[in-house]
Amino acid sequence: MSDQITAQLDELKAKVLSCQACRLRAGCQQVVFGEGQPGLMVIGEGPGADEDRLGRPFVGAAGQLLDKILAAGGFKREDNAYIANVVKCRPPGNRLPSTEESAACLPYLHEQIQILQPKIILLLGATALRSVLQSTEGITKLRGKWQEQEGILYMPTFHPAALLRDPRRKPAVWEDIQEIVKKYRELVDPKHYSPYC
Ligand code: SF4
Repeated sequence: MSDQITAQLDELKAKVLSCQACRLRAGCQQVVFGEGQPGLMVIGEGPGADEDRLGRPFVGAAGQLLDKILAAGGFKREDNAYIANVVKCRPPGNRLPSTEESAACLPYLHEQIQILQPKIILLLGATALRSVLQSTEGITKLRGKWQEQEGILYMPTFHPAALLRDPRRKPAVWEDIQEIVKKYRELVDPKHYSPYC
């Protein structure tokens, strides 16, 4: 990551860590800003209990599955994947963030996107799809179909938590990752290595 991107993210992070723009901050232990390296951007819904405790995104069971899925496509948060959520504070009891909470937090996600300038973004689940693309279609309908907005290609897919609940959805997500690898080689890095595709 360049010094400029690091500095911009650090500055934004300091702002987000002191944010109290919605009621979620009062009920969580800490703000989960996001982490990783420029490359593929991955957007989920919001922190769960493990993420809230550790201050890092996708570190519980769903996060471990996400890391495996990304690794199969040759993506790692240490090298070429940046992971963030629509809301940075944990909704109580893992409920869905409300429209107002998502709207309050979205400007931070947009700033992260502006700083990182990803060409491809993986959207995990219905909340990410609805909030980021203002889509009125469901995840089941749009999963696996590229969406383009302002020069960025978005691939909606199932959230890893949904895969834990229903493993029959895993092959669909694997198809989406293969699509991402193809497009990543085309648009970002022709030499991108993936162990399986
Ligand atoms: S969820 Fe986002 S908008 Fe709400 S308090 Fe946390 S950082 Fe601020």
